Amino acid sequence: MSVNQQAHTGPPYGQPQPGYQGYQQPAYGGQPLPGVPQSQYGAYNGPMPGYQQPVPPQGYFPSLGFPSKGSPVSLNSDTSSLAPNFIGSLRAPPTSGAPPPASGASLPSGHLAYSQFGHGDVQNGIPTSAAPMQRPPASQPFLPGSAPTPVSQTSTFQQYGPPPAGVQQLSNHMAGMTIGSTTASAPPPAGLGYGPPTSVPPVSGSFSTTGSGLYTPYTASQGPPPTSVSQGLPLAQPPFPGQPISTQRLPTQVPGFAPPPSSTGIGPSSYPPTTGAPRPPTMPGPPLPGQTAAGPPASQPNHVSSPPPPATMAGPHPGPPMSGLHGPLPPTHPPQPGYQMQQNGSFGQVRGPQPNYGGAYPGTPNYGSQPGPPPPPKRLDPDSIPSPIQVIEDDRSNRGSEPFVTGVRGQVPPLVTTNFVVKDQGNASPRYIRCTSYNIPCTSDMAKQSQVPLAAVIKPLATLPPEETLPYLVDHGESGPVRCNRCKAYMCPFMQFIEGGRRFQCCFCSCVTEVPPHYFQHLDHTGKRVDFYDRPELSLGSYEFLATVDYCKNNKFPSPPAFIFMIDVSYNAVKSGLVRLICEELKSLIDFLPREGNMEESAIRVGFVTYNKVLHFYNVKSSLAQPQMMVVSDVADMFVPLLDGFLVNVNESRTVIASLLDQIPEMFADTRETETVFAPVIQAGLEALKAAECAGKLFIFHTSLPIAEAPGKLKNRDDKKLINTDKEKTLFQPQTSFYNNLAKDCVAQGCCVDLFLFPNQYLDVATLGVVTYQTGGSIYKYAYFQLETDQDRFLNDLRRDVQKEVGFDAVMRVRTSTGIRATDFFGAFYMSNTTDVEMAGLDCDKTITVEFKHDDKLSEDSGALLQCALLYTSCAGQRRLRIHNLSLNCCTQLADLYRNCETDTLINYLAKHAYRGVLGSPVKTVRDALINQCAQILACYRKNCASPSSAGQLILPECMKLLPVYLNCVLKSDVLQPGPEVTTDDRAYIRQLVTSMDVAETNVFFYPRLLPLTRADVDSDSLPAAIRNSEERLSKSDIYLLENGLNIFVWVGVNVQQSLIQNLFGVSSFSQISNALSTLPVLENSFSKKVRSIVDMLQVQRSRNMKLIIVKQEDKLEMLFKHFLVEDKSLSGGASYVDFLCHMHKEIRQLLS
Ligand SMILES: [Zn+2]
Repeated sequence: MSVNQQAHTGPPYGQPQPGYQGYQQPAYGGQPLPGVPQSQYGAYNGPMPGYQQPVPPQGYFPSLGFPSKGSPVSLNSDTSSLAPNFIGSLRAPPTSGAPPPASGASLPSGHLAYSQFGHGDVQNGIPTSAAPMQRPPASQPFLPGSAPTPVSQTSTFQQYGPPPAGVQQLSNHMAGMTIGSTTASAPPPAGLGYGPPTSVPPVSGSFSTTGSGLYTPYTASQGPPPTSVSQGLPLAQPPFPGQPISTQRLPTQVPGFAPPPSSTGIGPSSYPPTTGAPRPPTMPGPPLPGQTAAGPPASQPNHVSSPPPPATMAGPHPGPPMSGLHGPLPPTHPPQPGYQMQQNGSFGQVRGPQPNYGGAYPGTPNYGSQPGPPPPPKRLDPDSIPSPIQVIEDDRSNRGSEPFVTGVRGQVPPLVTTNFVVKDQGNASPRYIRCTSYNIPCTSDMAKQSQVPLAAVIKPLATLPPEETLPYLVDHGESGPVRCNRCKAYMCPFMQFIEGGRRFQCCFCSCVTEVPPHYFQHLDHTGKRVDFYDRPELSLGSYEFLATVDYCKNNKFPSPPAFIFMIDVSYNAVKSGLVRLICEELKSLIDFLPREGNMEESAIRVGFVTYNKVLHFYNVKSSLAQPQMMVVSDVADMFVPLLDGFLVNVNESRTVIASLLDQIPEMFADTRETETVFAPVIQAGLEALKAAECAGKLFIFHTSLPIAEAPGKLKNRDDKKLINTDKEKTLFQPQTSFYNNLAKDCVAQGCCVDLFLFPNQYLDVATLGVVTYQTGGSIYKYAYFQLETDQDRFLNDLRRDVQKEVGFDAVMRVRTSTGIRATDFFGAFYMSNTTDVEMAGLDCDKTITVEFKHDDKLSEDSGALLQCALLYTSCAGQRRLRIHNLSLNCCTQLADLYRNCETDTLINYLAKHAYRGVLGSPVKTVRDALINQCAQILACYRKNCASPSSAGQLILPECMKLLPVYLNCVLKSDVLQPGPEVTTDDRAYIRQLVTSMDVAETNVFFYPRLLPLTRADVDSDSLPAAIRNSEERLSKSDIYLLENGLNIFVWVGVNVQQSLIQNLFGVSSFSQISNALSTLPVLENSFSKKVRSIVDMLQVQRSRNMKLIIVKQEDKLEMLFKHFLVEDKSLSGGASYVDFLCHMHKEIRQLLS
């Protein structure tokens, strides 16, 4: 339809601003202060040069009725061919530039103001599904710009039929359009229409990886941060029972234990690269970094990385893939006896060959030197090497009882697996920021020598447990927050007031700034301001400022955001029952949109679109008796056919919306359209937000590869043969740069895209996910979606996703004190310059990992400071700044660095770095680089910090004693070493998921939690003690639960007592247990209740609903389960923990020799 070209002539819909420079430097920095290098983020005043505000549509007039592409058609949606002819009245021009309030929807009358200390009603909490988030009312109102005036354009909208007379009439219309048309009147879809759906509903259930649940801090355990240094422990020595503090040495060199023990049991495949040739110790260069460069294809600026198929469940499970795995089942339960009692059961003992766990893995060539038959009967005793479970338990018992008070600089927080309460006394809570080390080297030389990456994992809008205080909201009125004149850092506890309080010296750049008159306060005899404790920004690590108009685009306060629900109504979606399910759910879910704590109702407006090869927009204005549909079939040049009535207030349009949601499933019930478009859908949502001049979120429910003719059309390019070749990286890259450009436009508008995928085959997650990833959105994937088994999981995810706190149109800047600076960023966002992380939407689950490098020397006296400032628009349209400050120690001795590291955070960084690396380098190169970097980290410790000992001993720093086991898990993950059942989409999906994970999530994702259910105390609320992830830890007579944040497995041993089976599954024997269950039956007995409560507890802790999978020992699904027993050798060639440790030792020795 070229008819409407004219429509575009006008600025109406705010053409995509060419280079949206919105937050860019120039403008965004506020008045450029002379000599101020990086002020940017600060002022944000002035008209942004590059960013044009959407101009009120002027090009077209309502009444003119020029042909529009949108046609208020009354025909069937499927009849795309008809649509074109209609002239829509649409595009009613908003009379003013004011954001079009949906049908007179009332815009929030003014933004609420908060008193200085109003408790920020930030809504940190997770809204429980039923309870809309509420927060203590803030305080005084603040009236920024007057609320935009609603423009009503009722008249403009033409209806396709007779004017809405009555409900009935309209409904008939709708009915006619849809249903009716499909059959008779509607011309067959232009395209292929009627052919039988090509893709048919999947057969089996899938294992998709999503999981949800509220994310709460882990309840589990805790562990003490290692404080001291290590002491070497020769292998032969008696074990070190649980020495929490001192470092342990793992002597590798045991008599009988060939020096290159590593070679023994390690499967060849695991360390391809390193293998033979000893790596030159000089390889120092952080290999990883280098890769980065190669990195992400241009298209993915932000380094999109997708996580490895987690659960890997990805593959169709039941299905075929598994079968492949079928192979020889590993001896299920290796006779525990395998363990020979080594004389000293300790640390590095040598053990005899274990029965099933034999040194050499059949089938796999030996790694390393010994080509021949694996000789190695001697191996390290798994019980003698560092245990994640022990470390977690120790931290829990040592640090779980006391609150973590943040007043001391450089304090290492308890582990993420420890339950603890945080008291903010000047530094941000570890729930907001965690660092790889809390004591950083003073010089870059030291940093390079150690190879320990300096990074912070930041979760700016993290949810806090109820017992902790939400950040206070500070309102400085029109003058806005007080900032350093030079670097623009925000007032914080580390600023030094001088000259009687008249000026302050910046803790980041040392510049001295005058204290504004209104902010002046006297100092006490210690030099501290008298009002120190009355001001959050002087005494706390985290707080918020109410932003002034200077921090808004175009110097205009934002309108409240909008949510647009965009539903695929192609054959697959309809047939599976998905469309009906979504519509039913939305009817109630729209009553739980996020809202500011003190508001009666949400300020968020909603809109609805359905699509297959064409798009259908709906007018749900409150004054209508029935919704009206407008079809846009010219997807090549997307526009929104109506302004007024598209985005509406839920309460005002409730009945019309309900009617629409009732009708949609009926309208498309008989569709035969199997093709879909995708990019035009995002474009439509983007255009709608532009026209409304607001930020917002698109919720897209999509089922297939978009092959219909349209921009962003894709082809099936899946090719597993590329695995392990130099072209493997292309599987992670988008197949076209189209989506990158679209993402850029979305970010400029504050249009965040959340994607719910329901694929029955390859749909190219790597490409479809680009916009979601770069706009800060979330992807959920339900492969082979089946109503019965997957609907609860999907609905839980959807509910949580819709209700969770989101900051829109966000920009994050991390400032640092002189000597270090942020140099690299990992996460779901977009960057148009090197310092500002832009996110159309940032929710409470999203994490950004920031890497720092030295650019000068640091001093032990002053330490190092970080200040993370996030500028965002709240769900009510209020512009705010959230500030997090953290002070770290600096050291001149490497030992201090190694004593203050956090391995869980280190792994989070290393995984994200590696997952980004696969976009530009062969996977093998990425794995080698990871191993090399860690070997260097440990070798540096051994060389500089450990007491002299024989080279045969492996000595690990106490704080990093789990580095080898966790690193091995990352190396074996589906992104870096996929098993045969893992699909290309799963890998791309996981790669993206991991990139936004926080430390707790990566921890459990890479080293799943394994709980013996049969040992749970039914009378207590606690979880049974976790055990290590190895098959040899399982007993045939027990039932276990394993969770990794995406899936929950319940494994049942063949010898489990019949009564337990009866109690848990309600069947009388092992053979009767169905592995098709997606939930545990609700039975009235204590064991059933206990297990279900454990499952519920775990679900609540995670940000996604985890898929429950029942696995019977020796059943074929068990292969899938074993994939998660990460201490064992994996089917895809990953090394066992013991073997990997030996391998690492060998690498370290090579570096030291
Ligand atoms: Zn400064």
